Amino acid sequence: MDFQDRPRSQPHDVSTLNIKCAECGCDVKTLPFEPTLKEDGTYGRIYCQDCNRKRRSNFRGGFRGGRY
Ligand SMILES: [Zn+2]
Repeated sequence: MDFQDRPRSQPHDVSTLNIKCAECGCDVKTLPFEPTLKEDGTYGRIYCQDCNRKRRSNFRGGFRGGRY
C-alpha cells in the first residue's frame, strides 16, 4: 500500500561520477536516468537539468515552428 519506490521519479545520484554538462560544463549531480559508461571511458553527452530543459524547448520550437 505504499507507492514510494517508483524508479522513474527517483533521480540517480551521480555526484561521485564527476560528470560535466556537455553544454555549460557545470557539474552534473543528479540524472533522471542511470548513466552508462561507454567504451571510451565517458558517459557520452550528458546535460545538466538547466541545459536539458533549454534543449528540449529549443528542439520543440525549432522542429515544429513553421512560422516564417
Ligand atoms: Zn548545463
